[in-house]
Amino acid sequence: MKRKPLVVANWKMHGQKAWIESFMREFAPGLGPLDHGEVVVCPPFVYLAQLQDALRQTHVGLGAQNVHSAEQGAYTGEVSAPMLREFGCSHVIVGHSERRTLFGESDADVAARFIAATKGGLVPLLCVGENAAERECSATEVRVRSQLDVVIERAGIAAFNNAVIAYEPVWAIGTGNTATPAQAQAVHAFIRGYLASHDEAVALSTRILYGGSVRADNAVRLAAEPDIDGALVGGASMAVKDFLAICAGFGV
Ligand code: PEP
Repeated sequence: MKRKPLVVANWKMHGQKAWIESFMREFAPGLGPLDHGEVVVCPPFVYLAQLQDALRQTHVGLGAQNVHSAEQGAYTGEVSAPMLREFGCSHVIVGHSERRTLFGESDADVAARFIAATKGGLVPLLCVGENAAERECSATEVRVRSQLDVVIERAGIAAFNNAVIAYEPVWAIGTGNTATPAQAQAVHAFIRGYLASHDEAVALSTRILYGGSVRADNAVRLAAEPDIDGALVGGASMAVKDFLAICAGFGV
């Protein structure tokens, strides 16, 4: 089965109105018609409205970097799925390793956010991945499987018909230490196999992105691996030329 490549920009807590304006002036025209793949940009919450406007005449999707599990309520500092939909979001990142490690989001929290996203009509981009210590003691598959299990148990495997997984080894995020294509492919194949043990059709259709120091000069080699269906890109997504080259490298 041919899966459409997807490249996602995660701007984290970066950006300013003027910078976004100049980025978009160069980025949108540089992209092409997006006939063969998809691109989604995830800015900080406060810039969603600006991006919603800027992306209106393009085929680029808009995503958020997190979503709360409730629709509304006394949850200071949080944002819900209906709110994100109102600002044109189609996608939302859940379970990014920075949320897990810096903000204490547990596997159960991540599953609740994933479910809220799907119920609210958003495509969750579920991040999973091991840290350096886990890789060193060969616990990568155990860690990734446990992260997936909580979501599969609570949301059901069918929820992955409308979800994306991002394999992001924590030791590769923002470090410049990209996983080799072979290392990434091995984990992607494991994830797809694990999905297949629950539902083969879901496993074949679910896109699994790689994230962790993706750059213009390693995108093509990562994209050549059979189970790597795109990328979640942090740092390099903020340099227009690099991000365009990454999108091209993944064939979008
Ligand atoms: C990320 O934060 O999801 C990420 C992959 O960052 P970077 O590309 O900078 O490693």
